[in-house]
Amino acid sequence: MTAKILNGAAVAQQIKQRVATRVAELAERNLKPGLAVVIVGSDPASQVYVGSKVKTCEALGLYSEKHTLPEETTTEQLLALVEQLNQRDEIDGILVQSPPPAHINERRIIEAIDPAKDVDGFHKINAGLLMQGSSEALIPCTPAGVIEMLDHYQIPIAGANAVVIGRSDIVGKPMAMLLLHRHATVTICHSRTKNLPEVTRRADIVIAAIGRKAMITGDYIGEGAVVVDVGMNSASTEEEVRHIFPDEEIPKRLEALQKRGSTLVGDVEPRSVVERASYLTPVPGGVGPLTIAMLMQNTVKAAERRRLL
Ligand code: NDP
Repeated sequence: MTAKILNGAAVAQQIKQRVATRVAELAERNLKPGLAVVIVGSDPASQVYVGSKVKTCEALGLYSEKHTLPEETTTEQLLALVEQLNQRDEIDGILVQSPPPAHINERRIIEAIDPAKDVDGFHKINAGLLMQGSSEALIPCTPAGVIEMLDHYQIPIAGANAVVIGRSDIVGKPMAMLLLHRHATVTICHSRTKNLPEVTRRADIVIAAIGRKAMITGDYIGEGAVVVDVGMNSASTEEEVRHIFPDEEIPKRLEALQKRGSTLVGDVEPRSVVERASYLTPVPGGVGPLTIAMLMQNTVKAAERRRLL
C-alpha cells in the first residue's frame, strides 16, 4: 500500500476562507476580533511562529498586536501585561508564545489569562470544559486542527482504534479527549509505554506527538492505518535525509539542507510509513498550517462569545 498524503495546507486554506468570511460579516456589525500575541526573548523559532500568526490575522481582517518583551522580563511583569490585556475589550484573544525563558512561571501566566480570551485553550477552565465535552471550551489549536483534517478527508473516527503517542497538556491529552468525544476507542502512549510498536500496530488511527525525529517507522504501523504526524524536528545531515525520506523527496530535502542547513522532519519516518499507511500527513504542510488556522477560528469564536452574546 502507498499512503495518500494529506494536504494540511489546503485544508487550512479552506478554514481561513471561512474565518475571513465571518470576519467580514462581523465587520458589518462593527466588530473586529482582536488577538494580542506576547513573546518574551528572542528565540528565532518563536519569532517565526509569532510573525506568521500576526501576518495571518492581517490577511484575514482580524486586529492583531505583538508585544515583544526582553529576555529578562520577570513573571510579575508578564502578569501585569496579561492583566492589562484582560481588561481591554477590543482584545478577544491573548497568546503568550511558548516556551518562555526558563525563569518565567508559565503555568501562572496561563492561569492569569481570562479563560474567555484563552485562544490557545491551555487554561484549566478550558481544559476542564474540554474534558466534559462542553461546546463552550476553547480547544487547543493543534489537536483541533487534526480533527478538522480527519473530517475533511472523511476519515471515520467513531469506532476507530486511535492511538495517541504523547500525553502533553497542549497536544496529546486534548487530542485524546477530542477523539474520545468523537467515539473513538483511545489509547494514550508515552515514554513508559511497554511494547509501543505492538500497541500502535493495532491502531486504525495513529497520532504521533512525541518530539522525536522520525521515531515512528513502518514497523509501528498496521497495514492501512491513518497516520497523523504532529512532530516538528529537524534533520541536518545528508545521511539522515536519505534514511528518512522517500526517494522522490530526497532532492528537494537536500536542496533545503544546502540552503538552510536543515530540513523539517516530523516524528514519523515517511520512507517506511508511506508503504504501510493508507493516509499520512506530511511535515511540513500537514498539521502545522492547521494550527494557525484554528487559532484564527478560536479568536473569532472568542470575539463572538464575548461581544455578541
Ligand atoms: P512534549 O515534549 O510536551 O511531550 C512529548 C510526549 O511524548 C510526552 O508525553 C512523552 O512521554 C512522549 N514521549 C517522549 N519520548 C517517547 C518515546 N520514546 N516513546 C513514547 N513516547 C514518548 O511535546 P509536545 O506535546 O509539546 O509536542 C510534541 C511534538 O509536536 C513536538 O515535536 C512539537 O514540536 C510538535 N508540535 C507541533 C505543533 C504543530 O503546530 N505542528 C504544535 C505543538 C507541538 P512522557 O510524558 O512520558 O515524558
